[in-house]
Amino acid sequence: MDIGLFGGTFDPPHIGHINLARRFYAKSRSDLLIVMPANIPPHKASSATPAAMRLEMTRLACLSLGEEGINYTVSDYEINRSDKSYTYLTVKYLREKYRPEVINLCVGSDMLFSFDTWKCAEEILASCRIFSLAREEGEYDEMCRKAKYFNDNYGADVHIMKGSPVVASSTDIRNGGEMEKLTEKRVYEYIKSHGLYE
Ligand code: ATP
Repeated sequence: MDIGLFGGTFDPPHIGHINLARRFYAKSRSDLLIVMPANIPPHKASSATPAAMRLEMTRLACLSLGEEGINYTVSDYEINRSDKSYTYLTVKYLREKYRPEVINLCVGSDMLFSFDTWKCAEEILASCRIFSLAREEGEYDEMCRKAKYFNDNYGADVHIMKGSPVVASSTDIRNGGEMEKLTEKRVYEYIKSHGLYE
C-alpha cells in the first residue's frame, strides 16, 4: 500500500490545510493519508498552544475529510516523542510500521522552497515522492523550477499540483485574521469554547 504523509504544526488547522490534504490524497493516489501534528517543529519556535489541543483541533478539522470518503488517520506519533519532529525520522517510523511500497509526502510552497534546509533532506528526496501546492497566486512557475532542480540533482520525484491556492495561514489566524472564515466550523467552535488565541 502507498501512504501519504501530511505533517504540520496545525496551530490552528485551517481550510488551506484541508484543501492541501484533499488534493494531495487524490493526486498521489495514496491508500492511507496520515496527518501528523508536529511536536516541536524543527524550523519554528515551539508552539505556544499545547500539543494535545493542536492534536484535538487537527482531529476535528479532518472529520470533513472522512465525510468525503478519504481514508485517513491523525497520528500522535510526533507529539508523543519528546524530541524535535524531524520528518526523516517519521518517515523511518512509518516505513517500519506500514511497510508501504511508496511514501508520498505533501508540503506547501513555503516548505518546498526551504526544503534544502531540512535535516536529511537528500534522504527524504531519495526515498519519498513529494507533492506540493502553491499557497499564493503566482508561485507555480518558481515551484516547477525548484521541483526540476530536485529531480535533476537528487534523483527526486517532486510533483507540483495545479489549481488555485487557498490563501490561509495559522499565523494570520493567531494574529486576529478571519478565523471563522478560515477554519472548519468544528475547529472554530473548539477555539472559542477553549478561549484560544484571544
Ligand atoms: P504558520 O503560519 O504557523 O507557519 P501554517 O499556516 O504554515 O502555519 P503549518 O501547520 O505550518 O501551517 O503547515 C503545515 C503544512 O501545510 C506545510 O507544508 C505548509 O506549507 C502547508 N500549508 C499551510 N497552509 C497552506 C495553504 N494555505 N495552502 C497550501 N499549503 C499550506
